[in-house]
Amino acid sequence: MPFAALGLPAPLLRGVRAAGYNTPTPIQQRAIPLILEGVDVVGAAQTGSGKTAAFVLPILARLLEGVHALRGLVLVPTRELAAQVETAARDYARYTRLNVGVAYGGVRIEPQERMLRGEGVDLLVATPGRLLDLHGRQSVAFEDIEVLVLDEADRMVDMGFAPDLQRILRLLPKKRQTLMFSATMPPELNKVAGQALVDAVRIDLAPATRTVAGITQAVYPVSKHLKTDLLDEVLKRTSMGSVIVFVRTKHGADRLARQLERRGHSVAALHGNRTQSQRERALRDLKRGRVQLLVATDIASRGIDVNDITHVINFDVPHTPEDYVHRIGRTGRADALGDAFTLMSPDERRDVEAIERFLGRSIVRVQIPDFDYHRRLATPEPRDLHPRSSSGDSGRGDRPARSSSPPPPPRPAGPSHGRRPAKADDRRSRKRM
Ligand code: AMP
Repeated sequence: MPFAALGLPAPLLRGVRAAGYNTPTPIQQRAIPLILEGVDVVGAAQTGSGKTAAFVLPILARLLEGVHALRGLVLVPTRELAAQVETAARDYARYTRLNVGVAYGGVRIEPQERMLRGEGVDLLVATPGRLLDLHGRQSVAFEDIEVLVLDEADRMVDMGFAPDLQRILRLLPKKRQTLMFSATMPPELNKVAGQALVDAVRIDLAPATRTVAGITQAVYPVSKHLKTDLLDEVLKRTSMGSVIVFVRTKHGADRLARQLERRGHSVAALHGNRTQSQRERALRDLKRGRVQLLVATDIASRGIDVNDITHVINFDVPHTPEDYVHRIGRTGRADALGDAFTLMSPDERRDVEAIERFLGRSIVRVQIPDFDYHRRLATPEPRDLHPRSSSGDSGRGDRPARSSSPPPPPRPAGPSHGRRPAKADDRRSRKRM
């Protein structure tokens, strides 16, 4: 089915062509006609499924008709996602006269006020806290809002935004269209959804328990104190493009970034303690290939859209199976193939088992040949042996380190660890964009 069959107006079809899309993804095929009809929609879509265009395009189509005013509002959990949705929306709207704006915290509020008060915007992408600040300062008015999107709604609830969302919902006109997108639908979301949506049509393209096809997953059992050495080996032995390495805590991210740098890797770090400009630079450097590795906390696991991520490595096993699905969704986007590796210390075994139950299948265990799994303490790095006690972005601290014990014996099947340039090249050439 071509884009032209979805009922989108010509200037938007031009924008879609300019973005390089040939055919709509399944969520776009299902969601665009429905949203154009004006009904409320709840979409459970996989990360990387093309859901941004699935809601932005029909909203722009609606905004093309009628007066110039703030009529569309997209709420997202993080600044990074806000910037990304805004960029996509501007791209699709490039052949129209619609103005798209973005507002998020962590940066000065005055320029955002000037943007809203000056030319004004038709579609605003915002994080909930900053939007309420702007409203409190009377810099934004909601009376013309016709369409509201709650994007990555589960994440907004996870991050404690439910009260802000409820306040915003009370401030918006009752007569409006509401769209809610989320890869997972935790029960806490039901209350917000009940308040926000009316007779919503449900599109379930991705049961939360399934991860994007095309991602090869493997678990590497290893003692906690050997994780950095093992990661170093995996990075050396496997042909990789851009890689995101996930850790649980902010200090853990900084520590690992320093350790990898000392071992000659090009690394940037992304976590909640970094300033907005540091975060933007880290993402830019990864996108442009100036660094190969991005060491990140879960703040980066949702919404970040960097093409050519060939591997996601979980240095720490994520707290929840949902986080695992989101983390590994950073690779394999839009039909690219990607690998997701998880380093598992003995005290993380239960967490991996919980992920396997959630996925409904087991993940292959892999051992690296010739790696000394029994060495006591490799490459002492005194400054890093006693991590400061810290809490992660999620507010949860490092797990207590347990003494090492040898990993379980290897299972025969699993990804090979010779160099695989052919596969990596092949992978890149199969990408759509
Ligand atoms: P999203 O799930 O919205 O974050 O989109 C994931 C990636 O897919 C982004 O890089 C989009 O630019 C890309 N994308 C979205 N729609 C299409 C399409 N119809 N064809 C090819 N790529 C797409």
